[in-house]
Amino acid sequence: MTTVCLIKADQYDQELILKGLRLAWSSLELSKLFKPGESILLKPNLLSAVSAEQAVTTDPAVFAAVARLFRELEMEQPLRLSYGDSPAHESTAKAARISGLAAVAEELAIEAADFEHSQEIEFPADSSIRKLHIANGVLNSDGLVSICKFKTHALTGITGALKNQFGVVPGLRKAKFHAVYSDIRAFATMLADLNKFLKPRLFIMDAIVSMEGNGPRNGRPKKTGYVLVGLDAPAVDTVMASVTGHDTAKMKLFQTLSVLRTGVVDPAKIEVRIIDPAQDAVVKQGLLSELIPELIITDFKQAKTENSLMTSASSFSGKLARRFIMRRPVIDAEICISCGQCVASCPLEPKALSQTGREVPRYSYDKCIRCFCCQEICPAAAIQVRRPWQRG
Ligand code: SF4
Ligand code: SF4
Repeated sequence: MTTVCLIKADQYDQELILKGLRLAWSSLELSKLFKPGESILLKPNLLSAVSAEQAVTTDPAVFAAVARLFRELEMEQPLRLSYGDSPAHESTAKAARISGLAAVAEELAIEAADFEHSQEIEFPADSSIRKLHIANGVLNSDGLVSICKFKTHALTGITGALKNQFGVVPGLRKAKFHAVYSDIRAFATMLADLNKFLKPRLFIMDAIVSMEGNGPRNGRPKKTGYVLVGLDAPAVDTVMASVTGHDTAKMKLFQTLSVLRTGVVDPAKIEVRIIDPAQDAVVKQGLLSELIPELIITDFKQAKTENSLMTSASSFSGKLARRFIMRRPVIDAEICISCGQCVASCPLEPKALSQTGREVPRYSYDKCIRCFCCQEICPAAAIQVRRPWQRG
């Protein structure tokens, strides 16, 4: 059994969010997680250098409220706070500036952690990961606090608390990993092992405005009205996935976590405490399984995901499935700005899409493993996920 606090917040009101976080802090007795003088890395989602309104990145109001919460802790020695994340393509500094997080960090004197340099780390023998580059800013800190954004995702269905830690891997090295962990189960196992290694202390999710549809970069902002706080990443993800109408029992991401016994994904084993900062109180508590009917947002548009299990097979049937059945990334030539970022992001060698000069890139669908790195990185929202026979 684990507990997740669901703080009501229908807008990015920093004072109200901070009030809610204080209530969650005492309700979950979080003080015991941090020792005086420790260096703590705040790890937001800075997937791309875009403004906060696009709901791609953690909102600066949530980031500021979390940082202020840590700043106001009374300790013999204050915590030493830093922050950082590794965007897929641009520099951390640019993504932090455009998302509004750099301004908050400057105001609250939070140091930018080193996400430009990394070290290759060898993982334990029982891990699905052999070696992995991790940013120095992560390795140099005593602990990590994950401040994620809730969004849809073409591969995993949703992205939130668990996947936020994938950002410790620098830049395009992340895409290379997709080629190795090319089906959802392998990818989820890798995420579980990465989290096991990093052991984030706490998970805070910005789901005041989430992303629906063609996420995690090119979907639409959708008000969902919560900030979540919990100690168990799969549980935090299960709560918000359930609130947005996902049947988590049918999602391969959660099925894999359940088999691995990574965290808590059973709605009957997650206690939800609903906090209303306006009333300065926990206004309701109960099991997620019982509360889902009243919490569910029925008009949230889920991602069009694909089971890419078949894609790893080089069999004839696998090739046919990839060509004629499975959902695939499709470029809208009228929107494409021919920047070539999708081609650069493809983890395969040779790549599954190619570009001649300034022409619109072309896919080789029988090679494509449906990792959707290209769809995730496209700055023009020109790539949609569709069945081969679907148009527009
Ligand atoms: S990333 Fe998007 S805009 Fe750039 S070439 Fe690819 S499809 Fe076109
Ligand atoms: S073409 Fe796109 S979806 Fe296919 S393997 Fe390359 S990056 Fe992944």
